[in-house]
Amino acid sequence: MKIALLCRSPQLYSHQRLIAAARLRGHEIDPVNHIRCTLDIASARPRVHCNGRLLDGYDAVIPRIGASVTFYGTAVVRQFEMMGVYCVNPSIAISRSRDKLRSLQILARKGIGLPATVFAHRTSNPEEVVRLAGGAPVVVKLLEGTQGIGVVLGETERAAESIIEAFGGVNTNILVQEYVAEARGEDIRCIVIGGRVVASMIRRGKEGEFRSNLHRGGSARPARISPAERRTAIAAAKAMGLNVCGVDMLRAARGPLVLEVNSSPGLEGIEQATGVDVAGKIVEFIEKSAKQGRKRTGRT
Ligand code: ADP
Ligand code: GLU
Repeated sequence: MKIALLCRSPQLYSHQRLIAAARLRGHEIDPVNHIRCTLDIASARPRVHCNGRLLDGYDAVIPRIGASVTFYGTAVVRQFEMMGVYCVNPSIAISRSRDKLRSLQILARKGIGLPATVFAHRTSNPEEVVRLAGGAPVVVKLLEGTQGIGVVLGETERAAESIIEAFGGVNTNILVQEYVAEARGEDIRCIVIGGRVVASMIRRGKEGEFRSNLHRGGSARPARISPAERRTAIAAAKAMGLNVCGVDMLRAARGPLVLEVNSSPGLEGIEQATGVDVAGKIVEFIEKSAKQGRKRTGRT
């Protein structure tokens, strides 16, 4: 197969691993910087050009779209979809997963466990927002945050209200969430590929930190997940329409609660913690799916 890896930095661990895994299995793979792509939309034959070259003859696309370029990146993925090229994650699913509020609404509709979450306009009454989220302590999250940045703990009612007022003052959208204390600064990251959990790890925040993100200095170890956690991770991936994703969950007394579903999960932490060849499993999944896609659409 000929695969395009849509990414901005091919030297990153995750991208190097995908390139190596594809070559090891005998495929041709080209890193393509999606923000350098130009889309020919109005012609009868949709096309993508990159640095003066027509991108042609690809069997599959692996989108690794950074959060800061979601709008342009998903447009490039959509263009490949219009050309009939198999994209591992559909553009619509990537867009959905980038919007925390929309994702939570989709997951809630499917009956997937979530922490009690309140979304409010910046002019709403902070007292009421904190009460609706179950009272302090609460977690306040910037809607556009990633890697734990913009996730703040409001330990008392007063502190929580001040945080909400502060974000309101700078005109940003926030979610206010019940603080799941039983998680004790840990969360579970499951990698779901093609409706199966292939690897799971527990991430733990550094001392005194409730956020377990590796980018915030957290550490990881392999996880043994329960059947309920497995079911939840698979259901969350399916609800979002993502074939490859990372599902983050908290272990709460009432069962697994989903925090978010990441359409470009980092591979370094999970491969090192679990020893699983996640990149190889992604390529293996593409081999099966791209072939089926060709049969379905009757392409040669
Ligand atoms: P980001 O997308 O920036 O990673 P998350 O919503 O995943 O934001 O939150 C970052 C981390 O903060 C999580 O991995 C988890 O450890 C912790 N966390 C987030 N929400 C809660 C919550 N409601 N209760 C307890 N801990 C939480
Ligand atoms: N971008 C990383 C991922 O989605 C974040 C990991 C982290 O900070 O824990 O896997």
